[in-house]
Amino acid sequence: MRTLIHDARLLAPMDDARRRIPGGWVLVEDDRIEAVGSPPVPDALEADRRIDASGKVVLPGLVNTHHHLPQVLTRNVPRVQEAPLFRWLDELYAAWRWLDAEAVEVAARVGLGELLLTGCTTTTDHLYLFPLGQERLIDAEIRAARDLGIRFHPTRGSMSRGKSRGGLPPDDVCESEEAILADSRRLVREHHDPRPRAMVRIALAPCAPFSVSENLLRRTADLAREHALRLHTHLAETQDEEAYCREVYGCRPVELLRRLGWLGPDVWLAHCVHLSAEEVALFGATETGVAHCPSSNFRLGSGLAPVRALLDAGAPVGLGVDGSASNDTSNMLAEARQALLAHRPGKDPSRWLSAEDVLWMATRGGARCLGRDDVGSLEPGKAADLVLVDTRRLSYAGAGSDILAALVFSPFPEPVDTVMVNGRVVVEGGLLPGVDVPALVERADRASARLLDGAARATGFDYRRRPSRGRGNG
Ligand SMILES: [Zn+2]
Repeated sequence: MRTLIHDARLLAPMDDARRRIPGGWVLVEDDRIEAVGSPPVPDALEADRRIDASGKVVLPGLVNTHHHLPQVLTRNVPRVQEAPLFRWLDELYAAWRWLDAEAVEVAARVGLGELLLTGCTTTTDHLYLFPLGQERLIDAEIRAARDLGIRFHPTRGSMSRGKSRGGLPPDDVCESEEAILADSRRLVREHHDPRPRAMVRIALAPCAPFSVSENLLRRTADLAREHALRLHTHLAETQDEEAYCREVYGCRPVELLRRLGWLGPDVWLAHCVHLSAEEVALFGATETGVAHCPSSNFRLGSGLAPVRALLDAGAPVGLGVDGSASNDTSNMLAEARQALLAHRPGKDPSRWLSAEDVLWMATRGGARCLGRDDVGSLEPGKAADLVLVDTRRLSYAGAGSDILAALVFSPFPEPVDTVMVNGRVVVEGGLLPGVDVPALVERADRASARLLDGAARATGFDYRRRPSRGRGNG
């Protein structure tokens, strides 16, 4: 099957030469890109299917480097709308402990659908809370990803250090280290595909320094390296985490990971807000990746990662929407705009990111974080993951002097026009083919209500009400 995408208003392959090709075309053969070119399309070129890209910007599919899909069911919960990370987590564990395969699958369909509609073709997910008897939750996410056709890097998350062992989460949402490692091995055996253009790859992801033990971090790294898997966790997200690490481990979070063999080109870390200049240099020297999640960091009041410095140091930096209880959307283009604007307040324009920087992070940077050299750009031999954005919309009127930058400066909420993943068209005319959106929303709302009712029964708090402020109600 050969597909020709032709007459693009602008083709931005995001290749090393950073070409911009007005009128450009892309030839796709099955699941891979065969050729990319300037107009005119060669006469001899034959195709089974033609997609007219007139008026559209064509670019590689975006890559999302951090998410917690089940959090779709606990979006903007009134009880934690004004809570910083530790209190937000503490309250939401009580809702998430009611997750089951139905809840996770419906949440994944919603979140992955939103990602596709905003141009994302490859995403990770970090699922780390497995209520007793609910071990097959990642399998439910993989089913949803396969149906929707998105390229998926689920991570086997974990929590093993409950309150009784000095951690933050309640003991009953933690698992034994043996169970975590056994299920990690099972997922790799059943789902991990190391081949080029793979649609599913597993990574390993203990949750955070305040919810796992050093022993689990070390053993997880050993297991990952035994199977050439990537490693992921949350790091240096808040000052509370820094204080916790100093108290429990006697060092800063980055130093903890360094001691445990957790820095390197096979590791990418979410947030990294609170880094010293020396730590930024260490990330560059070790090529440790960072998932930059500015919306979530603002939402929870965590701060802002030193992204300009990380890029200058040579560290891989990708963009992450993060979980939908702290963003509360899976909109990649909105996240790109947030990253564009986030670094501007203050007196130092040398720290600003450009639209070009942000698009690079959302494509090439993200691919590097996830260890993929076959996605993130439109070049012969790479996976056929591409996005067409129709610029004949009011949002883009008058922006023709730099229509590519307009995708970041003036994004519309959703959808993009066409999305292809591995040669399959998964968004067409701004719609997800075969998905009944109102029915899906109803299913998600029912699952959400089950979680919030469960939390209310367990804690005695009404999660649908905001705590009155200043009365020690947290
Ligand atoms: Zn996260």
